[in-house]
Amino acid sequence: MIKTSSDPKHPRFLSNFYRDLLSEGVRKGITSLQGLTAHGRGETFDYLMGEKTCSFARVSIQAAASLLLLSKFPVISVNGNTVILSGKGLVKLSQLINCPLEINLYHASKLRERKIFTYLQNLGGMNILLPDKTKIKGIYSNRKMISKSGQKMADLVFIPLEDGDRTRALIHLGKKVITIDLNPLSRTANDATITIVDNIVRALPLLIQVITQFRQLSRNELQSKLNSYDNKKNLARALRFIRKRLAELA
Ligand code: ATP
Repeated sequence: MIKTSSDPKHPRFLSNFYRDLLSEGVRKGITSLQGLTAHGRGETFDYLMGEKTCSFARVSIQAAASLLLLSKFPVISVNGNTVILSGKGLVKLSQLINCPLEINLYHASKLRERKIFTYLQNLGGMNILLPDKTKIKGIYSNRKMISKSGQKMADLVFIPLEDGDRTRALIHLGKKVITIDLNPLSRTANDATITIVDNIVRALPLLIQVITQFRQLSRNELQSKLNSYDNKKNLARALRFIRKRLAELA
């Protein structure tokens, strides 16, 4: 297990804690160096929103739970940041909805893929897929490489902390996409079917909690929760929240 030297009394303890985890993830060959800067972009938006789960995120978590329970073949796509920040939660989610965890890396290497595979296995992950020779059209990065028994077949792909190209390509293929992204302006946030604007370390445990509750609901009840959700309106709420908070602080 990765350890941190961060002092719990420090006012930015949690932020330092997750930075330590990710730095250790780099040393272990799981997180890429570029993943650290991507985390920094997320932290900026988290700071602007007060580092807490806002009501608009709770609304999208409910919609995401409904869609995950309604879909026929969901797949969870994981990368070097998500497994380090939320590996246990991702494994738990894959067990809860009985779906594969598919490793998909921007800065890919066979060695990193194997390390992430072993890391997830050690956390109890059983259904873990690696990319094979299957490709998604319209992507020029390594993220085009997917698994034919995973994302290729999926009707829904859960891709937290993703870049816009793959989100767009998956949507063009007719798949639904759920993301967790602190940046309500990103291409991923705007193209996804459901965007949870929150930090993955807070949002994933809540998503798991809501799925556990919603498992008692009928398909009709889940569908009606989904029907009342509007991603664009919810993203607009996030932006208005940031504007209001900054205006108040100013
Ligand atoms: P896009 O291509 O979609 O416009 P991007 O180029 O910023 O976005 P990446 O660099 O791949 O995409 O970054 C991934 C996204 O993850 C960023 O939008 C960032 O804000 C977000 N992010 C980083 N860390 C976290 C976190 N801990 N929780 C939630 N979101 C995060």
